[in-house]
Amino acid sequence: MEELKERKAAVLDQITQAAHLSQRSPNEITLIAVTKTWPIEVILAAYEAGLRHFGENRTFELAEKRPLIEAQLGQDSGIQWHFIGHLQSRKAKEVAQFADTFHALDRVKIAKKLQTHLGEINRRLNVFIEVNVSGEMSKSGVLCSQWENDATQQADLRKVAKAVLDAPNLKLVGIMTMAPWGAPPSDIKTIFSRTRQLARWLENDVKCQRPLNLSMGMTDDFDIAISEGATHIRVGRALFGDRRK
Ligand SMILES: *Cc1c(COP(=O)(O)O)cnc(C)c1O
Repeated sequence: MEELKERKAAVLDQITQAAHLSQRSPNEITLIAVTKTWPIEVILAAYEAGLRHFGENRTFELAEKRPLIEAQLGQDSGIQWHFIGHLQSRKAKEVAQFADTFHALDRVKIAKKLQTHLGEINRRLNVFIEVNVSGEMSKSGVLCSQWENDATQQADLRKVAKAVLDAPNLKLVGIMTMAPWGAPPSDIKTIFSRTRQLARWLENDVKCQRPLNLSMGMTDDFDIAISEGATHIRVGRALFGDRRK
């Protein structure tokens, strides 16, 4: 518990520093504590330490942990649950039922599935569209590697955004991206910068609520992401140490 508090303080310090370096307020940045693979005792300790946003990337973990945490802390604990992982359509029901915000929507089909389930249970879900700006084949997300001058990529992203905007129980709140693995900081910075510009392009193109938020930055690169405008950072190891298998 003491160690968690220290790690959290260090992360908050790093957020404040990165924000100030780019003339931003640290209050603009939401820290999502990524608790994947960690048991609910760790989530309860993180709650105790003051964290309120939790991120999971497997539907079964989310579906298992949220009810257990609510049994302990009640439904008005102030916790927001973020589903940050890739979603297969047959698992959409769990996300509709247990997530408050989904960070990795990348297909029209998923938007439709989520809408169907959300409509049935009368819930709403905030949505980030995941974009693959680096172009790595291993990454999911709408391919936006050349979005600045590729009309097909622009049209694909527009289609997904419109599907979200057309779904009454979904709310388009931003776009999400992941930095290329092991790339030098200057390359990572470029990807985050291009993602910010993509958000500005998209909000103008589809005339949605603006500004769109930017979910980008993890343990190794959240300071770079903040310098490029991240509003939501997803941090696991810096808070909890190396993950359990
Ligand atoms: C695991 C994960 C994170 C957190 O990664 P760390 O390196 O532990 O900070 C962030 N985003 C996604 C999508 C993840 O799967």
